[in-house]
Amino acid sequence: MKAVFISRHGGAEVLECGERPRPEPGKGEVRVRVKACALNHLDLWVRAGLPGVEIPMPHILGSDIAGIVEKLGKGVSRPKVGTPVIITPGIGCGKCKHCGSGWTSLCDQFMIMGFRRDGGYAEYVVVGAKNVIPVSTRYRFEEWAATPLVFLTAYHMLVTRAALKKGETVLVHAAGSGIGSAAIQLAKTLGAKVITTAGTDEKLAKAKKLGAWGLINYQHANFTDEVKRLTKGRGVDVVFEHIGPATWTGSLASLAKKGRLVTCGATSGPKAEIDLRFLYMKQLSIFGSYMGGDGELRKVMRLLSLGKLKPVVDSLFPLEQARSAHEKMESRDFFGKIVLTI
Ligand SMILES: [Zn+2]
Repeated sequence: MKAVFISRHGGAEVLECGERPRPEPGKGEVRVRVKACALNHLDLWVRAGLPGVEIPMPHILGSDIAGIVEKLGKGVSRPKVGTPVIITPGIGCGKCKHCGSGWTSLCDQFMIMGFRRDGGYAEYVVVGAKNVIPVSTRYRFEEWAATPLVFLTAYHMLVTRAALKKGETVLVHAAGSGIGSAAIQLAKTLGAKVITTAGTDEKLAKAKKLGAWGLINYQHANFTDEVKRLTKGRGVDVVFEHIGPATWTGSLASLAKKGRLVTCGATSGPKAEIDLRFLYMKQLSIFGSYMGGDGELRKVMRLLSLGKLKPVVDSLFPLEQARSAHEKMESRDFFGKIVLTI
């Protein structure tokens, strides 16, 4: 089958387009004909190499996959061949207490598609039958591919961890990122007032269309000062963090008394400082969050199917141009998801 894979870690130049063996579905598995696969920052990290993480080579990247069920393995009767599906980006053992309670990402055997197992930069992929979720024809494959990882992560962060409530105010960093564009919509759907940041006014105009109320261009203003101004000195109830040290101190300073910060990422680096006096005097809470569970993904897919949330696609690239797609992601010049079509 045609695939884009890496044989060593490095820059975008290590992405090779070529032939890989077509995988056969085993017992309980299905083979999906991939139609679209969205990029995530994870793809760039896996491509570059992560300290202490061994990736078997050659390796196929890609966590966000939409396609059609093409072949059923032994013991599988559904979904039927021909069903349009997305693939759950995170895969647990399905047997442990964490998988059983819906906290799949805490499973000891938790794997992410395209991270420690082959992903969707290919014509075909094989997964367990329980790891595909049928989708409606409301959106095209490239739009469905733009949804699983970011909406699942945003749901787990805002609903399960930070318990964002109607009438509360939330600061969502980086409106133009895939996760930012998902979080703005979800927070708005939950009835919260959304303040967001971006580096250009063009991105902020798009964020407004997604439902953001407070718009901050971080190139021209200090976001903490702006949050204080917009909330009349009170601060926000929740900060949706995924940037890390570049925004961390300002994020904590943007919280109201009893505020909650929830974080899922560290794009600007892994270490950040906390002034403990500030943490305890204002009685703040900090939540870590890592993807989410299958039950949450099904809930969020239902909201998408109902049109309450919408995929945000920035641009499409044919699989052969995966290198250009990676360069686009590194340029930060995008709004929403960059998607490969196959
Ligand atoms: Zn498990």
